[in-house]
Amino acid sequence: MAKVFEKSTAFFETFERKPSMQKTTHYCPGCGHGTLNKIIADQVAELGIQDQTIYVGPVGCGVFIYYYFAGACASAAHGRASAVATGISRSNPDGIVVSYQGDGDLAAIGTSNAIHAANRGENMIVFFVNNNLYGMTGGQLAPTTLLGQKTTTSPNGRSEKNDGFPLRMAEMIGGLEAPTLVARVGVNNPKNIRQAVKVIRRGLEIQRDKKGYAFIEVLSQCPTNWKKAPQQACEWIDDVVCKQYPIGVIKDLADERAPLLRPREKANFAAVAKQLGLDCEVPVSSEDISLPSEEMHFKFAGFGGQGVLSLGMMMAKLSMQRNLEVTWLPSYGPEMRGGVANSSVVVSKNPIGSPVVAKPNVLIALNRPSLEKFGPLVPENGLIVYNSSLIDQVPTDLKGQVHALPATDLAAVAGTVKAANVVVLGFIARKTGMFDLAELEKFLGEIFEKPALLEINLKAVRAGWTA
Ligand code: SF4
Repeated sequence: MAKVFEKSTAFFETFERKPSMQKTTHYCPGCGHGTLNKIIADQVAELGIQDQTIYVGPVGCGVFIYYYFAGACASAAHGRASAVATGISRSNPDGIVVSYQGDGDLAAIGTSNAIHAANRGENMIVFFVNNNLYGMTGGQLAPTTLLGQKTTTSPNGRSEKNDGFPLRMAEMIGGLEAPTLVARVGVNNPKNIRQAVKVIRRGLEIQRDKKGYAFIEVLSQCPTNWKKAPQQACEWIDDVVCKQYPIGVIKDLADERAPLLRPREKANFAAVAKQLGLDCEVPVSSEDISLPSEEMHFKFAGFGGQGVLSLGMMMAKLSMQRNLEVTWLPSYGPEMRGGVANSSVVVSKNPIGSPVVAKPNVLIALNRPSLEKFGPLVPENGLIVYNSSLIDQVPTDLKGQVHALPATDLAAVAGTVKAANVVVLGFIARKTGMFDLAELEKFLGEIFEKPALLEINLKAVRAGWTA
């Protein structure tokens, strides 16, 4: 039995992915998410399924579950977690797939994704966190908002005439034939938490035994947007919320269901490419290519709008054309508020274990916050290229080989400051020795169709190459 006051072993010991505070979560004091995370982690650890479990996070207050759960995690676009979880479940039949979604995410933006995953009876467990509003974005009305409840977008309270009735997702999903387990629990008091533990364990056992789809709606307090003290918020669930959303098991067919096994299909990529009319010429063998290190970890960082995501994408596509293994991971949205958008690109001849770039061996910093944030992470044998047109102060604790590249000025001479990222592409291609100039020019010819635009970008890449 998990010790209630101890951190679960299914959590990371320290939350290394959470740069500001590595010991605490980002949830507000008194929020129900923290309790739910703890119950899930405890049960995953107790069932010994941690190595099989793959979490899919939403957009919403649950967006950062990958900071906390020590397991494989994927982030889905808003409302798409059930669809992403379907893909993961189908391609990993031995995995245990957890989709974690809030009410804005699942019951509004992603309703169709959620319903159809349930109706197909996918092997996955879905946690639907119902706190009656959109939490992360400041407390707007959600489909689950109670009649009369005031939110930032229903200041006079929800009215059925204007907004319809609160959506009872568990009852809707429970009405479908395919789901194996459908229940509603609460995390607002010890009695409800004890019941939630049992139901969540049951749902995870169903996943372990491959018995199909489980949906657990979790009534969760949001003291911040409800504008209540944590204790009042917990009481409000008992006194008001449960009247609209009664707690209990709506459907449990686990004992009568057989395992649902879907064999993984082998993809025929050549047939798919032919169907799409893509060029199927035999790619260059990656064996013939030399990389400066076995696995190249690029970090491209700057302000949103400086083209750092497309710069990463260009590096990824060029590498793919050479038949190398590639991952491209953009970072923006909630993480952009500090002024830094970035993309991580990993390039290798071998399969890549993780798309995360924690210690870049090539850093491109187009603005000062990026250089200050990522520069110290580059090791001694790494390469740091910074945009000296915009950065006039360089941190003193940099270990890597530092190059000042006036990318914006060179791009302006080429025709537009927007081509600064292409200047950088030319520079790093030469510095790393990964691509030659003719290859870059051919590549730009494929992506810029308008002659005038192509001309500017060819000038920009040559300026970077010769800088
Ligand atoms: S806004 Fe609400 S749901 Fe989001 S973390 Fe804070 S209390 Fe929790």
